[in-house]
Amino acid sequence: MNNITENIKTVFSSILGLFYPDYCQGCGKPLLTGEHYICVDCLTDLPYTYFNDSRKNIVSELLWGRINSLKKAYSMCYFTKSSQLQSLLHNLKYNNKPEVGMELGIYLAHELENAKLNDFDVIIPVPLHAKKMKIRGYNQSEKIAEGIRILLTKPIDTKSVIRKVFTSTQTKKDKVERWENVKDIFEVKYPDNLKNKHILIVDDVITTGATIEALANTIEKVPGVQISVASVAVSKKI
Ligand SMILES: [Zn+2]
Repeated sequence: MNNITENIKTVFSSILGLFYPDYCQGCGKPLLTGEHYICVDCLTDLPYTYFNDSRKNIVSELLWGRINSLKKAYSMCYFTKSSQLQSLLHNLKYNNKPEVGMELGIYLAHELENAKLNDFDVIIPVPLHAKKMKIRGYNQSEKIAEGIRILLTKPIDTKSVIRKVFTSTQTKKDKVERWENVKDIFEVKYPDNLKNKHILIVDDVITTGATIEALANTIEKVPGVQISVASVAVSKKI
């Protein structure tokens, strides 16, 4: 696109913005030019974990010993209730804002690069059951993966592993119930696609780690697989 067209586009989107302003999906304030779905204030104030800074990585500790082929695990933020991050993730999941996932995915990719977690071969977003996919219209983890792909240019595989069982919500269940609820819900459809690959599993929020463990345990039956895990947030109350 040449400069004039670009300028005209910018002017028009600014004028349109006066009538139909876009709002930050974190705090609800109108967005400024150059901001996409999340305002700079919200981005600055996110409760970053800084795990790449050799601080105590609670997501590695959480998953260690539960996934035999685990290489690395990284979460960008701590999940805190009644926060901008909770609004962002809620809007991503329940309010038809898939773009928020892509935005967060781009920032997560930056963190993965800093943490040197960029040597994987393929991204597998935690699969949704086909029925849930139909209701929501998209998989929020896949949207985060799409953001990661923009920066790290790695392929996303949504075909090789499926979620074969429709599960009820995990939120009111305790640790044991959560594990019982998810342990056999995934299935590898095309193991040859995954053989000897380093796979990055991507999720929105990790709470007890039960879903990630179940998915990873299913995938790691494929010979030669190594698994890393990345999420936008990890819950502190584990
Ligand atoms: Zn905001």
